[in-house]
Order: sequence, then structure tokens, then C-alpha cells
Amino acid sequence: MKTLFILLDAFRHDYINPVDTPFLHAKISTGMYVRKLRSSTGFTQRTEVMTGTCGATSGRFTMHLFDSENSPYRFLRGNRKCRWVEREMELLAVLPGVPGLRWFRRRLRSRAKVQLERFRRTLRRRAEQEVHNAPPGQIPLSMLHEIGFSEDIRPLSAPGAYDELETIVDVLARENRPFDFLMYPEVECRDDLVLERVARGSQIDDWVCFAQFADSDALVHRFGPGSPERRSVAGEIDRKLRVLDAAFGNDCRWVIAGDHGMTDVQLRVDAAAEIAVAARNKGVRLGRDYLLFLDSTLARFRFKSPRGWGLLDEIKNSQMLAQHGRFLDNELAAELSIPFGDRRYGDLVWMADVGVLIDPDYFHDGRSSKGMHGYRSDHDDMKGIFLSFGPGIATGYREEARLRDVCPTICAAAGVAEPAHNEGTTLVRVL
Ligand SMILES: [Zn+2]
Repeated sequence: MKTLFILLDAFRHDYINPVDTPFLHAKISTGMYVRKLRSSTGFTQRTEVMTGTCGATSGRFTMHLFDSENSPYRFLRGNRKCRWVEREMELLAVLPGVPGLRWFRRRLRSRAKVQLERFRRTLRRRAEQEVHNAPPGQIPLSMLHEIGFSEDIRPLSAPGAYDELETIVDVLARENRPFDFLMYPEVECRDDLVLERVARGSQIDDWVCFAQFADSDALVHRFGPGSPERRSVAGEIDRKLRVLDAAFGNDCRWVIAGDHGMTDVQLRVDAAAEIAVAARNKGVRLGRDYLLFLDSTLARFRFKSPRGWGLLDEIKNSQMLAQHGRFLDNELAAELSIPFGDRRYGDLVWMADVGVLIDPDYFHDGRSSKGMHGYRSDHDDMKGIFLSFGPGIATGYREEARLRDVCPTICAAAGVAEPAHNEGTTLVRVL
């Protein structure tokens, strides 16, 4: 019996209906359906699925860490070219537009941008000799050498991805089961290629497949979950699932999970500018006295000097930040299954309210998102879906479950042991 785990990236619980997603909708009554799936807050859902642990247990919360010791970019410490390139971008940003010469300024800027992206790609190639997947995003070049990674240091597709946590892949390797891992970053977000490769596996006996359809993340970031485009994206994924169903026939158990949701962006806040004002007031310098990381929904601070610590109260007293979000404390971290007190995520973490986007952030260049996730995961918009069906899977319904429950569910469907540190409970009974 084959097992097909399909991750529908950012597929929100309310996308399923008979018009947009007729295949998924029809399958609900044939298997186990959980209407809302809730993950730990943050951006490390793949680890939650593959290990069955919440963020507080796995110690994983965001992809990027403050970790100068283990940063794959530490070769950039003191690098002159980084400072020079950044200085050039700053100068171009304030270059006055002389009438008639505006096109010239535009050309200079776009040329500099292309060069900057080329430079980033070179740096990334070098960093990835050490860390399997180390995207530099739009992190300021002068700060890259301080940044480490929480996931994908070694590939999740191979045994031994984590020193301290067992994954389903470790279990499958031990039990000698054939498997393939067709998820990010091994398969670079190309849904048509994923479909082709999964369909090819329908010939392998006892195969366990981990696949990911990612358009529901990428395109819905771009257009927003309230857009007509989102409905056609959901429909296209539904069509792909139907193709796979025809290819695999009755020799397959399916586990499908939308790992989190997405919400329409209502308001943009320029946290960087707000913090720059606070820093100027205190006479502290980014890089020397403190570090800042801007995930799209989080502003994280690491204080490096006593003077840098002086910024703490200034930030906490910011009216703008108080109005549009809150600071992470012990209690909130426990509620949202987030690790707390780990300085690699920052000495202070500000979480934006649902629908508030930090813009600019360290991921997006120019084109701003209309949809975002990574807000507190107990909000309904942040919840995904779960569906499992196939031979031996008992029918059933639950209103809500946790993303970590998906891990033991895949194991139950495949008939293998659960990873050693799993905290989830299987969502299916296999008859
Ligand atoms: Zn996303």
C-alpha cells in the first residue's frame, strides 16, 4: 500500500467548497476530515509535520536566527564590499531627480538592484556549501554575518536532518521503506513538476511520498485570500489532486494537510523607520549596539551592548508598536507554542496584530504582499485543513486538530513507527 502525504502550502480551512474544489469536497465524506488545523505560531511548519513536535519543543520558530557563531555567512564579517554596495544603494535612494534626467536615475537604480541580486546569489552559493538552504532574502548585507538558520541545515529529505530530533524520514530509512521527499526546498515550488514526479511514483510498491503544492502560498501572498485569483489557485490544485487520484487508484492512502492559513493585509507599518527614530533618540547604532530582524509579522531585537539595551524601553514605549501589535512574553509564548527566552530569536519580539504587515521587511523587494501568515496561530484565518482517505481509513469528522498530529497520522497510514519525540496523536484509525 502506498502513502501519499500532500502538503497544501497555506491552504486555509475555508477554501474547500463544491464549486472551487469539487474533488476535495467530495472526498470529505469518504474519509477523516478535520475542518481546522492549527499549527504552532511562526514559520517552521515543515519541522512540526516531520517530527510531530510543536515549536516550543523543537526550539524552532522562525527560519532566521541571530547566531553569528554558526552563521554560514560569517565569512562576510568586516567585508568591505558589503558596506560599499549598501552605501551605494543608500545614495541612489536619496539621489535628487533633476527634470529630464529622471530616466537616468531610474536606470542607475535598476542597474544597481540587478547587481545587488547577483551579488546575493554569489554569497548564497558560498553559504550553501555549509547550510543546505540559506536564503539571504533582503537581509541587509552588513548584517548577514550575524544570521544563522533553524531549519534545513541538513536536508529534511535525508536521515539525520536534526541531531536532537527524529524525523519521519529517519523512521522510514530505519524500516527500509522506499520514499521520496518532493517538498520545499528540495523541489523549488513548481507545482507542475511536483505533479509529474508524484505521478511517476505510482509504480513503486509501498512507496511513501511527501509532496508539496506551493501555489496556494506564493500566489495568495501576491493576490490575497479574498481575491478571485485565490479561488482559481485552489481550483487548479484540486484538479492536480484529481489527476493523482486517477494515477494511484485504490492502492494508496492519502494524508492531505493545509499547514496554515493566510489573511488579507489590512494595514502596513514601517517598523524599521519607527525603530530608527528610537535608535537616534538613544544614540545607538544598528549593527554595533543592536540587531534587528524583520519577518513580515515579527520585529525581533537582539541587544549587543549596554547602550543597545537602553533601546528596550524606547521600543516598548513606541505608540505605533503598542497600537498595532504586542510584545511576546512567557504567557503568550506558551499559548502559541513558541520557544521563549532563546536569545537566538531575539531579546525582544514584537508580534504584529492579525492583518498588520511589516513593510518593508527582510523578505520582499518592492512588490508588497496582499496576503500574509505568521500571525498568532489561534486566529481562524491562520488555520489550515486536514483530510485523509483511502483503503482502511475510517470516516470521521473533527472540528479542530493540531498540525503536530499530522506526523503520527502519516506514520499510521504508512504503517510505520512514530518518530521518537512525536507529541501528536494520530487523526485516523486504520482498519
Ligand atoms: Zn508564505
